[in-house]
Amino acid sequence: MPEGIEVEFYRRTALKALNRRIDVIKNIDSNYLPKKYGSFDLKNLLEGNYFTEATRKGKLLLLSISNDFQIGLRFGMTGRLLVDGKSAIETLEYSSSRNEPEWDRFSIKFRDGGSLSIRDPRRLGAVEINPNADALGVDFYEVTGIALTEILSSSTQPIKVRLMNQSKIAGLGNLLSDEILWRSSIDPRRPSYSLSRNDKRRLLHHIRKTVYELTERGGSHMGNLQTHRNLGALCPKDGEPLDRYKISGRTTYSCPRHQN
Ligand SMILES: [Zn+2]
Repeated sequence: MPEGIEVEFYRRTALKALNRRIDVIKNIDSNYLPKKYGSFDLKNLLEGNYFTEATRKGKLLLLSISNDFQIGLRFGMTGRLLVDGKSAIETLEYSSSRNEPEWDRFSIKFRDGGSLSIRDPRRLGAVEINPNADALGVDFYEVTGIALTEILSSSTQPIKVRLMNQSKIAGLGNLLSDEILWRSSIDPRRPSYSLSRNDKRRLLHHIRKTVYELTERGGSHMGNLQTHRNLGALCPKDGEPLDRYKISGRTTYSCPRHQN
């Protein structure tokens, strides 16, 4: 699924959509419609205007409009952003490699003939009007030691659940969290409060290193653990058979030898 890194790529793609007059909303899937609003409101908001800025917080892409409103785009499990029919990401982990225009759940046509759309086989994304980005925690590119200590110290939740809680740290998903914890030698099931000062220092180091490295490599599925996410696979660090189990419904891989 798109994690913060993928949405950062979508933000860069969205820069190509700025300052282009919006002609018409070509379509919007009912699942995607903003809560409390109808397609009418969205048409009024967008048509004849243009986007002025593309920003991001965690997995939420924010497009500012020339009328001072903002729309937020969410990509669910399988959504990709296309501008003029092109995406920064050709295929997504967990997503179909097929590329069907009928999966466009939200699309805008610009007056210059170009377009912006979200292509999403599973229809779990959304368009929001003036979303509350303050409800999201610190962005995953900007986690500090102080923030991390505050987020972890009083929580009995498993560390992986806490890392994926978007109201605490925005942007980390399943793959990034497993990779970070594997690199940090921390068991994903450990209660958050039980991390020592050294554990937290190591964790912070690997959050930063992992997100920058995987951004460079091209996605949250480019981790060192990724090709070992199969039943019966061995830890690439020490050759131990990896454990596979679920945490909050998400498939988790960890090494029983070096993660504790
Ligand atoms: Zn290991």
